[in-house]
Amino acid sequence: MIRARLKLTLLFTAAMIVTGTALAVAVSASRTAGAYSAIGREALADADLAMRIIAQSARMREPTVIRDSTNLETISRNVAERLDVVPGYVVIVSRKANVVYTSADAADLPDTDWASLQRGIADLPNDGPAGVITIGDERVLFVAHAITDTTIDISRVVAGVRVRGAQNLPAELVTTIFAVMPVVIALASWGMWLLLGGTFRRIEEVRRVVADITDGRSLHRRLSDDEASPEIAALILTLNSMIARLETSFAALRRFTADASHELKTPLAVLRADVERAMSSNTRKDDRLVALEEALHETTRMADLVESLLTLARADEGRFDLHLERVDLAELTLEVYETALILGEAAGVAVNMPFSAEVSISGDRTRLRQLFLNLVTNAIKYTPAGGRVDIGLGRHPDNVTFAVRDTGAGIAAADVPHIFERFWRADRVRSRTAERGGFGLGLAISQWIAQAHGGSLAVQSRLGKGSLFTLTLPLDAADRGSVDDLEILPE
Ligand code: ADP
Repeated sequence: MIRARLKLTLLFTAAMIVTGTALAVAVSASRTAGAYSAIGREALADADLAMRIIAQSARMREPTVIRDSTNLETISRNVAERLDVVPGYVVIVSRKANVVYTSADAADLPDTDWASLQRGIADLPNDGPAGVITIGDERVLFVAHAITDTTIDISRVVAGVRVRGAQNLPAELVTTIFAVMPVVIALASWGMWLLLGGTFRRIEEVRRVVADITDGRSLHRRLSDDEASPEIAALILTLNSMIARLETSFAALRRFTADASHELKTPLAVLRADVERAMSSNTRKDDRLVALEEALHETTRMADLVESLLTLARADEGRFDLHLERVDLAELTLEVYETALILGEAAGVAVNMPFSAEVSISGDRTRLRQLFLNLVTNAIKYTPAGGRVDIGLGRHPDNVTFAVRDTGAGIAAADVPHIFERFWRADRVRSRTAERGGFGLGLAISQWIAQAHGGSLAVQSRLGKGSLFTLTLPLDAADRGSVDDLEILPE
């Protein structure tokens, strides 16, 4: 956690430094550009002033260029005096391309610098963009103007201003970059460190509580809400719902294991007693056979239970194989009906099949048979002698329904939501002692088979009046379409 916090803070600081530096560079670049254009304007103004001084003396018909004692061209004294007020570098060139005037700055230059100044001026275009000429260790921005009026003996005026100031960053910018910015960055990084500390502390707290809760014994506990941060609150909400789901499935698992061991305990005890009885030397031969027969019966029951548990375990894992084939449901219903007739006769229950549709679907025949049989045997099992069980297979535009109605015990409204739960029986004692007492797994498996076929299993029941179980299975896409008449089982 500390490492992540440090890493994020350092990253933030680095980002701040990069941004600050980029900003400083941009600001100083624009400042320098601004300073250069100001110096350029200054040089232009100087050149203009010199031009105006020369133009004025021309207007006053004063000679501008005269010859000195050595017969060299030079500017007249009057004009030179006036030009001396122009600041910076001023160089005036005559029509005969002689330098006739240089301002004090230029006149004071050593020979080598004067030579480089002259070379630079020669390359400078007239009335064109300003050019920077390096003279000694300073840089000077020059502009040149041509004089077109040929009555004037001067052809060119060059003016220059030092750019030393423009290259140096202004003092306030230097202070900002080197004094204020580091302080701001340090403060922001410190703030970031503190902020991250709070968040990471909360995450660590959540982690510790989750670790405590998920040790398996405290799944009833929940994380307390975090009002300060919506992101952490969302995380807590998700974790809480995950813990709730874990709690439910852990409880279901515990219940399932307890139920399964409980269900196995009785037949095992009976089996043991039977085997002991059969092995006892005091037992008569007939009794020994009876004991072995009972042992066989219990073994079969246990095998059934284990088979059912295995089916459900595979279904839970999603590791079931449906052997899909075209199943003629009318034929299957008839087969189940015939079995029901035999079971019904033994139980004194009348079994009828008022209607059956001609319909096929693609499904797992063995599983569907198990499902149909389970519904029908339940109906007979929970209907007392003298009662009635009706079976019907109906075709609808998009699906097919297999319905089983009985006039038996029915299920209490409060029990209806539980009947598909594993090991659930309305009356545990009666079911176990009854002749065909089940384990309470049949409907759980039936519901799974229905769902695995994309269908559903529903129940309507009134205690003491009877029940109606309806299985709905979707038709294959190619078989869908309208049907003429819908049939339902009579009340
Ligand atoms: P079992 O092996 O006990 O029949 P099931 O899962 O098939 O297990 O059924 C669970 C419980 O649902 C039964 O114990 C019974 O209480 C109730 N039940 C199922 N079918 C009917 C029915 N047709 N009429 C009344 N109760 C039923």
